Amino acid sequence: MSGADQGVARARVELERCLAPDRLSATAFDLDRVSRDESSLPPGSADLVVFPESTAEVAAVTRIARETRTPLTARGGGTSLEGNPIPVLGGIVLDLGRMNRLLDVSPIDLYATVQPGLSHLELNRRLADFGLFFSATPGGTGVAATVGGLIANNASGIYSLRYGSARRSLLACEVVTGTGDVLRAGGMAPRRSSGYDLPGLLAGSEGTLGILTELTVSLHPVPESRRRSAAIFPTDDAAARAIGALRLHGLDLAAIELVNREAAALAAAEEGVAAREGALVLIEVHGSASAAAEISVEAGGVCRDGGGAVCSDAAAAQLWRCRERLTAAVRRAIPDARVVRADLGAPVSRLPELISWCDARRRAKNLALYIFGHGGVGILHALLPVPADSSAEADARDFRERLIERAVSLGGTVSAEHGIGIGNRHLMRLEHGEALGLMSGIKKLFDPEGVLNPGKVLPIC
Ligand SMILES: Cc1cc2nc3c(=O)[nH]c(=O)nc-3n(C[C@H](O)[C@H](O)[C@H](O)COP(=O)(O)OP(=O)(O)OC[C@H]3O[C@@H](n4cnc5c(N)ncnc54)[C@H](O)[C@@H]3O)c2cc1C
Repeated sequence: MSGADQGVARARVELERCLAPDRLSATAFDLDRVSRDESSLPPGSADLVVFPESTAEVAAVTRIARETRTPLTARGGGTSLEGNPIPVLGGIVLDLGRMNRLLDVSPIDLYATVQPGLSHLELNRRLADFGLFFSATPGGTGVAATVGGLIANNASGIYSLRYGSARRSLLACEVVTGTGDVLRAGGMAPRRSSGYDLPGLLAGSEGTLGILTELTVSLHPVPESRRRSAAIFPTDDAAARAIGALRLHGLDLAAIELVNREAAALAAAEEGVAAREGALVLIEVHGSASAAAEISVEAGGVCRDGGGAVCSDAAAAQLWRCRERLTAAVRRAIPDARVVRADLGAPVSRLPELISWCDARRRAKNLALYIFGHGGVGILHALLPVPADSSAEADARDFRERLIERAVSLGGTVSAEHGIGIGNRHLMRLEHGEALGLMSGIKKLFDPEGVLNPGKVLPIC
């Protein structure tokens, strides 16, 4: 038996001693379920799944993992797209699905305190009674994605233009560090200037610094009206320029989505929508009915000035539906395809040149390239479905690397909202350079034995 296997065996004995039997599983079904996420990355093989029901249980499991040097990977809904919750080194997967209670809502202070396994959709269903909502919205995955997972990945989603990313929403948290200690960080005051921003550091750390066991997140009043519109542009470049113009006009928009010509054609064909060919800019406005209508008209004028054709309300609703189903549509585009994807971010002013670069390069390589994303905040998802293990796969992977290098050289980022996981780990140095040493030091402070989600985020841990 290897040292690692002995560690897992000892961990299992300890866990059986201190947890109720229904908290542990090593069934093929559970091990398989936690082996992957929504990416095409290879699955991992966990040895054990633990379903904690309290912070004390999470702390006990973490202490045992530390003592036995057993990898411990937190799992929310498993909807990540970069392998973030895949247990690459085996060990224990901590499935937080049973810690799913809404603990407190303060309508005046606009916050809710929740356990990490509460799904985004269920939280918003419960908040509707208070006329409030939690804004981090992963397109089409709300049923499964959890508040803990959204914060741990620093997700953004379509409404981050108006309401900010998940990190910005985390006011306070309870966290179990890699030592098994339970700490509280942050607070409920709307502003604070005291000490280091630990909630900000834990948000986006993908379970490598601590397990979030309680989260206080900021909320927003449900807008009286939501108005969706759409414009079709002859080129991807014109659509990207229009987004810059919309920002320059200072219009109060909740969402600006960009869909390139290729992705728009695919989605329209899938949904049976007879739309004019072209790249899309999709807009959503929140506010009173009259303000939303007025701002929509103004946004339409800006799009027209940029060469766009503004759609009817009915056509806009159809095109928005297409946008929401795009990730799934791309997966279906080539049966059994592997989807090579990038989740990059760039300053909005550089989107036109980035998107033109993509178009020229993918033509040279004859690759299918579907680009869409939250253009108003510079987030682009580039998806390249290719037959697995084909020469096209090598070309697509090379394209992805060059594209990300390009985005970083323009002041952008390797990953804007899906996190680093496994898929982007090798690119961390490109973006962070010498600062990686400091990040490794922080990791050691929180998790001295390196048991929390090992093999993720930092290339050298
Ligand atoms: C179709 C589709 C569309 C998507 N659209 C978007 C989008 O628009 N915007 C966006 O940002 N993302 C999007 N995503 C990605 C995904 O939904 C988000 O990253 C989501 O935040 C993951 O939540 P989860 O509960 O599934 O977390 P998981 O995938 O289970 O875990 C995410 C990471 O967090 C860690 N983790 C989980 N819970 C905890 C915890 N309590 N404490 C510490 N660490 C923890 C895990 O170890 C892992 O590293 C999309 C995904 C799909 C499949």
